[in-house]
Amino acid sequence: MTGLLERASLTAERRTRELAELAGGEVVDLLVVGGGVTGVGVALDAASRGLSVALVEAGDLAFGTSRWSSKLVHGGLRYLASGDLRLARESAAEREILMRRTAPHLVHPLPIVLPLTPDVPATSALVTRAGLGFGDLLRRGVRTPSTVLPPPRRLSAVETLGMVPGLREAGLRGGLLYWDGQLVDDARLVVTIARTAAAFGARILTRVRVLAVRDDAGTGTGPDTDTGTGTRTGTGTRTGTGAGVRSGGGLGSAPIAVQALDTLTGRHCRLRARAVVNATGVWAPGLAPEIRLRPSRGTHLVLPAAVFGGTPTALSVPIPGERNRYALVLPQGDGRVYVGLTDVPTDEVTEQPVPDHQEITQLLNVVSGVLATPVDRADLLGVFAGLRPLLDGPDGRTADLSRRHTVHVGPNRVITVVGGKLTTYRRMAEDAVDAAVAQASLDAGPCRTGRLPLVGAASRRTLASVPAPRRLVARYGTQAPAVLELARHDPRLLEPVTTGVDVTRAELVFAVLHEGALDEGDLLDRRTRIGLVPADRAAALDAARDALSYRAAHTS
Ligand SMILES: Cc1cc2nc3c(=O)[nH]c(=O)nc-3n(C[C@H](O)[C@H](O)[C@H](O)COP(=O)(O)OP(=O)(O)OC[C@H]3O[C@@H](n4cnc5c(N)ncnc54)[C@H](O)[C@@H]3O)c2cc1C
Repeated sequence: MTGLLERASLTAERRTRELAELAGGEVVDLLVVGGGVTGVGVALDAASRGLSVALVEAGDLAFGTSRWSSKLVHGGLRYLASGDLRLARESAAEREILMRRTAPHLVHPLPIVLPLTPDVPATSALVTRAGLGFGDLLRRGVRTPSTVLPPPRRLSAVETLGMVPGLREAGLRGGLLYWDGQLVDDARLVVTIARTAAAFGARILTRVRVLAVRDDAGTGTGPDTDTGTGTRTGTGTRTGTGAGVRSGGGLGSAPIAVQALDTLTGRHCRLRARAVVNATGVWAPGLAPEIRLRPSRGTHLVLPAAVFGGTPTALSVPIPGERNRYALVLPQGDGRVYVGLTDVPTDEVTEQPVPDHQEITQLLNVVSGVLATPVDRADLLGVFAGLRPLLDGPDGRTADLSRRHTVHVGPNRVITVVGGKLTTYRRMAEDAVDAAVAQASLDAGPCRTGRLPLVGAASRRTLASVPAPRRLVARYGTQAPAVLELARHDPRLLEPVTTGVDVTRAELVFAVLHEGALDEGDLLDRRTRIGLVPADRAAALDAARDALSYRAAHTS
């Protein structure tokens, strides 16, 4: 029997073969458009229910918003603050699933300190403390043990400085300590879900852009075509958790045809599926023009951990003049911290959003306000920004718009799933696949993903005994020894790719052999995050090229 490593392997050869099968006329049960966390979640959900599945992604896995997040698996504190108890509970439940069942290797507990500085009045400290208490009740409600996420507590000034040595001492009254989940990396979560889906037979095809969707009832939509029929109202929309989805217009049983472009060869192809899920995030209106989004840019800075005293504790700093908005300082365990995040409404939907001058200054100022030695532009190693796919609504500012998700069946039978959070991707996927099963009368089993370990997952106890460096176990889980094995005949592969970066050459080769990396960008910007620091990216380019030629050398 083929091993999991092999069944989950994404390679250039597998991509070519599987795309040819589909372009040759095979009809799949479900075609997913978009390879962010939502799309790969849908592919896994459907494939693990026994459906035949293909996923097409215009760029690479995690090419869009899913690689620009704060990399937190939230327990829903923020939703509590806005009074959305149902969403808060859903987040806490999904955090429990990720941290304890499906991805304990990728998500770890993160201590977060909110320093009680003179800018935080006693009353707002009390309100925040009460909110943290509610958050802890949710944790208990979904049965996440306090050994995994300890309850929040008040810290003395001495304890606060002990945990975050870089804080300014003058006027510090203490701190509030609480815990949440932190991903080792968001793009790595996406790739791991995609590989797990592939192990269930899903075809994961990157560099395939959908140009138009056309069903046999004659309606069609597409980002590059003008084939819409004029109707702009979908017939069944659902937000967040709840009851089933009504079927949209169309014949229901005839396959839906999708025009796509293989951007590697320039060839056009026609793919056919019984149901199509549009999981294209901020690009969703391209295939579902009736969906209205209000994208909002969120920016992070990359700084050396040393400027915050090298602590593994995160900081949450209230943004002066704002209610319930905080700047976060998030240690990454690799000598870097990310400082985020802004919320700027934008109409410009681009593949690589660029932060503006003002956002960078604002973030530097907010965190400098609590530090003994302020940070400035000279400390910056890099910056990155992503676009939140927020649903338009009556709530005003993008910062106030709900983070709920919607499943919507359009007039061309395309099912769009959009909104939500990285944390709740599994629930979004379940709702979208339920909708597809109902709409196309697919023969599928019940959703299994709540108990389905992702590739490399195991209990924390088993992970602790995996014979590999902790850094690799945190990224590959039980598959970490397979990364090391690559270096058995070539110890050079255990060397870091460049000075000051702890990623090894073996990780790049593993990404080419098993994780579907096709070029330098895939290796440096998504399978690893070396590219977040432009100077490191430039220094690691040769190592990436070596890894790509490794495949050629070992498969010829
Ligand atoms: C700054 C920021 C911080 C965040 N932090 C957190 C956090 O800490 N925790 C959390 O839970 N959530 C967080 N979020 C939210 C979370 O990142 C998003 O909700 C989530 O990543 C959206 O994923 P997605 O798969 O829906 O969209 P995307 O990741 O954007 O995926 C859509 C994909 O569709 C592809 N695509 C588009 N058009 C086509 C086409 N025509 N054909 C084929 N493919 C196509 C794109 O290339 C893209 O890869 C954050 C968001 C932002 C912006």
